[in-house]
Amino acid sequence: NSNATTAATGEVTTPHVPTELPPRIQHFIDGAFVDSVDGGTFDVLEPVTNSTYLQAAAGQKADIDRAVHAARSAFDDGPWPHLLARERNRILNKIADIVESTDARLAELETYDSGLPITQALGQARRAAENFRFFADLIVAQSDDTYKVPGRQVNYVNRKPKGVAGLITPWNTPFMLESWKLAPALASGCTVVLKPAEFTPLSASLWPAIFREAGVPDGVFNLVNGLGEDAGDALVKHPDVQLISFTGESATGQLIFANAALTLKGLSMELGGKSPAIVFADADLDAALDSTLFGVFSLNGERCTAGSRILVERSIYDDFVRRYAERATKIKVGDPHDPQTEVGALVHPEHYAKVTGYIDIGRTEARLVAGGERPEGLPTGNYVQPTVFADVPSTARIFQEEIFGPVVAITPFDSEEEALRLANDVKYGLAAYVWTSDLERAHNFAQRIDAGMVWLNSHNVRDLRTPFGGVKASGLGHEGGYRSLDFYSDQQAVHISLANVHTPKFGA
Ligand code: NAD
Repeated sequence: NSNATTAATGEVTTPHVPTELPPRIQHFIDGAFVDSVDGGTFDVLEPVTNSTYLQAAAGQKADIDRAVHAARSAFDDGPWPHLLARERNRILNKIADIVESTDARLAELETYDSGLPITQALGQARRAAENFRFFADLIVAQSDDTYKVPGRQVNYVNRKPKGVAGLITPWNTPFMLESWKLAPALASGCTVVLKPAEFTPLSASLWPAIFREAGVPDGVFNLVNGLGEDAGDALVKHPDVQLISFTGESATGQLIFANAALTLKGLSMELGGKSPAIVFADADLDAALDSTLFGVFSLNGERCTAGSRILVERSIYDDFVRRYAERATKIKVGDPHDPQTEVGALVHPEHYAKVTGYIDIGRTEARLVAGGERPEGLPTGNYVQPTVFADVPSTARIFQEEIFGPVVAITPFDSEEEALRLANDVKYGLAAYVWTSDLERAHNFAQRIDAGMVWLNSHNVRDLRTPFGGVKASGLGHEGGYRSLDFYSDQQAVHISLANVHTPKFGA
């Protein structure tokens, strides 16, 4: 039903509209779709023409109260926290099966709502299925620790789900990032309230049917839509919520940290980034070019681990900048539903204004070598040309601040020490990429760089068992593998004697 023609072929774009859109987006509480208590709604836009295509329920404190109450009752009275690991494994695998078998529809809706290129949205839908499959397997593989203690005693660790988990997620790859929290929370036996990002509520509205079909009991999964300062804030402050897993901006993370302190909640924070890619003269330059282009322009540049600063050794700098700019100019920007498209439309006009605002700032701070304009043939929608700035000083705002769009800053360096100083000279510390054929240098660099994750001659390939998270302003705590299960579980120590214990006889 697509009537879209594409900028990838240089023509005018109108949005491809998915056939099965819901009439409106509601909350899902205790197994039922419901509107907000006060009836409030907000507009949901699609980014190709920025027209409002749906209304979503705007949750407030009263809606969060209902959802938390449902989650609390399902935790206290329901079977979910007490199921055997293999029983939850079966349900989580079923969820993975359903997500896998509906990946094309999921991707279509995600692309319509977020502007993410369709082939990349499909990859993200498959990753969401993998997340469920992975935590389904991990929960049965997990063994409880037991310690034999002198005096014929045994100590063991009793893992218990912590309670109600509040999950607050951003608009970039929304469905996949929701799965990254939902899968370990549910695997651990928690019940949940999910507050998805207000820019992109569409794909989250598919979770209720998926969970119902897989056999998740009512009240275990609850969904409240709404703005961060209303629904998100109420979730963070609710006394019956034991945990908040948050992914979003560092400034929002700081606010949540302060608000969660009021009720001493467990917190996991995956925050912003301004990750460096460091290219030494001895690197495989073709591979480094491919990787650094993909690293900042895939997912529309709306990627937390984007390598948005490229530091290049002086002797290859001019050549690198020229080749990089040439390639950036050839990136296919256009209709996100076209499988040829490499960069789609940015998520929302507010975000578009932020990104283009940074491009204007960049023009005053550095040398523009590619992009910077609205792409030809795309008169409406949140389209930005892939934009490359060279000779960017470390004091520049486009060097220091997260732009979260298809904009990259390239800076030369003369020595390893200077490269390291530049790499670490920002408040963030999420990811880093190092390109060199000197392995000793690569490993030494990894030791000294402020980043939660380092890729050496590699890009963003990550096994789900490895830790995921950032340092400095990029986050707090690590998820991934058993770390995620630990976050959603209490680890109670139980001490037991297998023989009479000879306690010192006070007062005997
Ligand atoms: P955001 O911080 O604006 O919003 C994230 C979520 O928090 C949304 O659901 C929002 O409604 C909610 N929120 C906002 N204010 C709140 C408040 N006061 N209390 C409770 N909840 C509140 O972030 P965004 O713009 O949606 O997402 C982009 C950001 O996310 C970027 O900074 C990006 O780097 C970061 N991100 C990080 C990772 C990671 O793993 N480190 C992954 C993806 C995105």
